[in-house]
Amino acid sequence: MTLRLFNTLTGQIEPLEPADGKALRMYACGPTVYDYGHIGNFRTFLQVDVLRRTLKLLGTTLRHVMNITDVDDKIIRNAAEAGVPIGEYTKKYVDAFFEDLEALRVERPEQIARATEHIEQMVALIEKLAAAGAAYKTEDGSWYFRLRSFPEYGKLSKKDLSGMEDGARVDVDEYEKDSARDFALWKAAKPGETSWETAIGRGRPGWHIECSAMAMEYLGESFDLHAGGEDLMFPHHENEIAQSESVTHKTFARHWMHVRFLLVDGRKMSKSEGNFYTLRDLLLKGYKASAIRLALISVPYGNQLNFTFDSLTESTKAIERLRTFRGRMSEGKFLAGENPELQEAAKNARTEFFKALENDLNTAEARAPIFELVRAANTAMDQDQFFAADRDAILPVLQDFDAVFDVLEDRDAEATRRALDWAREAGRMDDVAPELLAAQSLTDEQIVALVEERTAAKKARNFARADQIRNELAEKGVILEDSKDGVKWKRK
Ligand SMILES: [Zn+2]
Repeated sequence: MTLRLFNTLTGQIEPLEPADGKALRMYACGPTVYDYGHIGNFRTFLQVDVLRRTLKLLGTTLRHVMNITDVDDKIIRNAAEAGVPIGEYTKKYVDAFFEDLEALRVERPEQIARATEHIEQMVALIEKLAAAGAAYKTEDGSWYFRLRSFPEYGKLSKKDLSGMEDGARVDVDEYEKDSARDFALWKAAKPGETSWETAIGRGRPGWHIECSAMAMEYLGESFDLHAGGEDLMFPHHENEIAQSESVTHKTFARHWMHVRFLLVDGRKMSKSEGNFYTLRDLLLKGYKASAIRLALISVPYGNQLNFTFDSLTESTKAIERLRTFRGRMSEGKFLAGENPELQEAAKNARTEFFKALENDLNTAEARAPIFELVRAANTAMDQDQFFAADRDAILPVLQDFDAVFDVLEDRDAEATRRALDWAREAGRMDDVAPELLAAQSLTDEQIVALVEERTAAKKARNFARADQIRNELAEKGVILEDSKDGVKWKRK
């Protein structure tokens, strides 16, 4: 089974396979660590995670590299304002980024590459570009890429760059203008700024050169796939291609995947619109990490996602249904035998699930048959038409689903607890939802003790006390379920 993925470079859906027949070599642009990640950032990382997990499920070995941009204009400016070295300034955000990825259950790439640890490779690449006539030095000691030297510029984003001004330069790391400019490869040191003493002068790298240098360092001159958010397509990825191919004369990445933006309540997310959310904002509002994960991956990467709080509520309920069903399956006692309809349904759900993922990672179509199967199986259980062989047929289907979606295991309390710890340190307790605070005011041990006290009270026919405990727990977001095997509790 082979994944077929849209390739921005060719404009076609194409099979994605390792060129060397061994491991799929992929590079995905990572974060610039000057702030906490917002849900738009995390949608991209989550969709790359879906890609990773699908490839693994299909039996592909991966060599996945992600960079950390830990030096750029904003970082230098913010660190200077805070009066600390850039390494000290970025550490907090690097740690926060990985903590957030863990909360969202995003797998770690095989290789993490930090820009500040690869200055040597970037300098070497700029030297090669200079030797090839594709880079020049300006009077202040900065280096620029000469766009005129790379006629293929624009082949990824398909922008019409015919009005390109020869020799016009841009030195900021990010620019959105549709016009192409010679861009900075290396910026000469300004007084007081972080810089490195190198063979091409004292200074610091531009943003674009780091991805070219580090991708080639770990994946070779030509590799299988490059991924990133759609906002990086131009100019960042276009510049990466220009810098790399001018030196190697080989295709830098054969396949390009771009994750589309998300909207929040139908509008572009922005701080001024008041619809800007970091992952931590949502956790403090009481939403579960698993629900955020599911909501951000359920719309395929190539489609714009309109993120709403309703979609989070829907995801919370969907996950609850899945977890309850799996609990029913693993704890229930079922008679030997099978229900032919369920056997057929399990087989079909699995086929449809794989078909949808293999077809350009269509996560929406992949999850639908799984929920359909759960519905049918729940109905069969209610009617005593569910047998041991049905459980054996359905469990592996759920496992395959969860190998990609990863929401079945309940690890949400941990992510929420960490967010609360952070809120305490960061002075953000005012942003914590009251229900969440109440629920967190009890430890697991305290809950267990109360549950036991309630059981004892019931045995002693002290129903008033038993009800009192149930209500007290409910107020703090703890739900009790009485079953014939005893009392189970969970946090809402
Ligand atoms: Zn990049």
